[in-house]
Amino acid sequence: FLPHLVASMEEVEQTYIMIKPDGVQRGLVGEILSRFEKKGFKLTGLKLFQCPKELAEEHYKDLQSKPFFPKLIDYITSGPVVCMGWEGVGVVASARKLIGATNPLNAEPGTIRGDLAVQTGRNVVHGSDSPDNGKREIGLWFKEGELCAWTAVQEPWLVE
Ligand code: UDP
Ligand code: MG
Repeated sequence: FLPHLVASMEEVEQTYIMIKPDGVQRGLVGEILSRFEKKGFKLTGLKLFQCPKELAEEHYKDLQSKPFFPKLIDYITSGPVVCMGWEGVGVVASARKLIGATNPLNAEPGTIRGDLAVQTGRNVVHGSDSPDNGKREIGLWFKEGELCAWTAVQEPWLVE
């Protein structure tokens, strides 16, 4: 068991998933959280949070020069968001697949955006786009002590 566990530990990633204010206002928190939970990823952090403008700007700093940036910041700060850390092998890319394309009209049915949204400017959920950004964003949105390292009892039933 041990060499196998050590090898797979290498690939364990962290991703930052956020239910945006529209997802909270529309009562979709349970539905969205449940999709990651049922898939088999491990929740490491969870909170309802009113995001200050500065944090939204830092989170989306790569998009600063885009014309939609001011509206994006207004959107993200327009009400509480649900901040989540999820952990697992391949979780970053897999979560992006579960979320679907940025424009919900292009998102496949079965994805969160494909099933639950119609417009890019109200696409209900965020997911980190790389393992490095996963770490960066979890560090940005969570304080030390807000994250839990724990062993899920279902683990041997998810991974052979
Ligand atoms: N966004 C927008 N208009 C656009 C492109 C993006 O309002 O033309 C918003 C949208 O909420 C999107 C976020 O900016 O989710 C971040 O954009 P990105 O390209 O990183 O998309 P994502 O990674 O969220 O799919
Ligand atoms: Mg992005």
